[in-house]
Amino acid sequence: MDPLKHASVPLLAFLAISKSPSLASVAVLVFGAIFPDFDVFFEEHRGYFHSLLFIIPIFMLSFYIQNHYLWLFVFGLGMHFFLDFFSGVIPFLYPVRKKGFGIKVSGIVIFESSPKINVKYEILVGYPSRSRGSYVGVSNESLTIALATLIILLIRLNLLSE
Ligand SMILES: [Zn+2]
Repeated sequence: MDPLKHASVPLLAFLAISKSPSLASVAVLVFGAIFPDFDVFFEEHRGYFHSLLFIIPIFMLSFYIQNHYLWLFVFGLGMHFFLDFFSGVIPFLYPVRKKGFGIKVSGIVIFESSPKINVKYEILVGYPSRSRGSYVGVSNESLTIALATLIILLIRLNLLSE
């Protein structure tokens, strides 16, 4: 998943539930939401920063310190994991165990005759990919979502009103 989607999805959630979002809160959240992909600068992408061995200590620290910005950073990290889990594999125990898992949902069928929902999915198994030292690649779809998010952000930050 690309950085624009990783930033937009948690930001939309935050903007929907936050009473008075600030630019600083938004910046910290977005930083947390894209932070795990900085592991492209190591040997393997979806490596160190995509591991529970990285996120669990930070998660526990956020409960101990109880800081608004640290919580936002952790929320961003958590959303990154969630999104990546449904768009590839997460090596939960990296670097101890490099094998990763994810879920690919290929379709959701809702039967009209009987109230039944059928979810077609497959469990993905794989390994982190070799890093190329870059983190780029933005689709038209991501750009559209990011622009919509930006407009909502400007409205919520009261930057469009006089
Ligand atoms: Zn990632």
